[in-house]
Amino acid sequence: MIRRMLAFCIFLAIAGGVTGGVWWRSLNDALARLEERGRADLALAGDRLLGQLQRYREMTVLIADHPDVLRLALDPAADPGAADRLLRRTADMTRSDELHLADQSGRILASSGRVHGADLGAAPYFHRAMQGALGFHHEIDPATGRRLFVYAAPVFSPTGPVAGVLVTRVETEAVEVIWRGEPMIVFFTDSDGIAFVSNRDELVLVRLELLPEHEGEVPSDLLRREVRQIGRHEIWDVDGGPYLPARALHLTRPLPVIEMTGEALVNIAPAERQALLQALLVAAACVVVGTALYALWERRRALAIRLATEAESNARLESRVRERTRELSEANEQLHRAQADLVRAGKLSALGQMSAGISHELNQPLTAIQSYAENAGLFLDRDQPERASENLARINDLARRMGRIIKNLRAFARQESEAMSDVDLGQVVAATLELSEARLRAAGVEVDWTPPAGPVWVRGGEVRLQQVLMNLLANAADAMQGGGAVTIRIARTAERVRLTVADTGPGIAEPDRVFDPFYSTKEVGASEGMGLGLSISYGIVQSFGGAIVGRNRPEGGAEFAIELDPARKAQAA
Ligand code: ADP
Repeated sequence: MIRRMLAFCIFLAIAGGVTGGVWWRSLNDALARLEERGRADLALAGDRLLGQLQRYREMTVLIADHPDVLRLALDPAADPGAADRLLRRTADMTRSDELHLADQSGRILASSGRVHGADLGAAPYFHRAMQGALGFHHEIDPATGRRLFVYAAPVFSPTGPVAGVLVTRVETEAVEVIWRGEPMIVFFTDSDGIAFVSNRDELVLVRLELLPEHEGEVPSDLLRREVRQIGRHEIWDVDGGPYLPARALHLTRPLPVIEMTGEALVNIAPAERQALLQALLVAAACVVVGTALYALWERRRALAIRLATEAESNARLESRVRERTRELSEANEQLHRAQADLVRAGKLSALGQMSAGISHELNQPLTAIQSYAENAGLFLDRDQPERASENLARINDLARRMGRIIKNLRAFARQESEAMSDVDLGQVVAATLELSEARLRAAGVEVDWTPPAGPVWVRGGEVRLQQVLMNLLANAADAMQGGGAVTIRIARTAERVRLTVADTGPGIAEPDRVFDPFYSTKEVGASEGMGLGLSISYGIVQSFGGAIVGRNRPEGGAEFAIELDPARKAQAA
């Protein structure tokens, strides 16, 4: 949040700086252009004023040389009629206000008006003319309040001295009228700072004074103004009513010929508008750029947040996967333990089932051994040693057979911890048949088994394979209580070794389910099953990397097939 505020403040500062800079630059440029044009206009206005006054000046000098004028000046008592007419006509033609001819004392001898006898002796321009120079003055007529330019030219007598003075008075309006209404405000101020000539009435005879705001009531001949600088430009804030610009560029041009200063006020509102417009454009551009940058920034931030969230959820997911994996492997271990327990349980149950048959199997040779021993004793008593040794040999055979049975039983009952090894499948079948013989015989089942010519090596565990096969034989015996036949075959397929156990029983009721744990069609109790035999067998065969399948044969009866990997020993052979 703080970073965002900081970035926003920095952006505001930069945008403000740029906008301000553009405004300042644009205003200065516009003012420079205004000043250039204003100076040209002011020079033109000054030249025009001087040009017009020049006409009156030349006219004054010319009329002073006129014979009618000279005559009257030389003889003031003469009839002024001719001079009066001349002066009147000239005044009419040149739109001068008044023309007078004064004698050496300043008394008016002839005039375009009716002011004969008036005295000009005190006027400064009269003195100048009397000294032989051209007098020039500006004044306000005390009687009418009109503003006048006055030229006074000496009337020289043929002998040299000044005989009189010709005075021309020109009303300023005569020169003002042609440049009134021009857009630029021009005024000409005298040495007192009073605007004597102007193209705006508001400025006529007014002094533009630097007055503080709180000065109170402003006299009518004063205009309040304040001065400030924009760059190198002098700007006046004028308090001059609706017809004067509130803010104007002030320009001056000295006019020493008429002892005045030409001044101009150029409205700077257009320059200000232009600068403001440009600044606003730049500000708008800044806002657009800023918004774009902000949007970009926000997107990057959102992306970063999304990535962080994804990374976090990934990490969570991974840890959950790890957890689940651990749970699964624990469950798997438990399952393996449970399976091992079940194998053990299955074995015990098989042992239980077998015990009856085995005791019978051992009892029978024992009884035979007993009678053979008795007989042998009798034959010895009868001194028939050949018969006695025959019986002893039989006893020997039976004892070996009992030993084999016991050996197999011991091997079966032994805790299964043997690793995978190479096992002769023919041997496994022979050993299992020996253990199961009694049971099969009791059920009246015949066994069709031809041992293979040589060993058939497969990968597996001898005892566990025996367990599987014994289970298949027990199931076959169960299925054929009324008698039947079991066919055991070993065959080699392309890559594996196949052991099949087929019977002539009623077949499997639900072939899809026989390998399910606790699936049994047998009644629970006594020697009958728990539905675990085939599922345990399935697990055992799978642990060897082999497969077991059960199906019903088309000709009747069930067939179970076990496929195992051949041992490398066999492959090498
Ligand atoms: P159990 O023998 O304890 O019932 P098994 O897993 O060994 O358990 O057998 C499951 C079931 O498969 C048996 O109950 C039986 O229905 C069927 N079965 C197994 N072998 C055969 C067979 N040779 N003929 C017919 N049914 C069989």
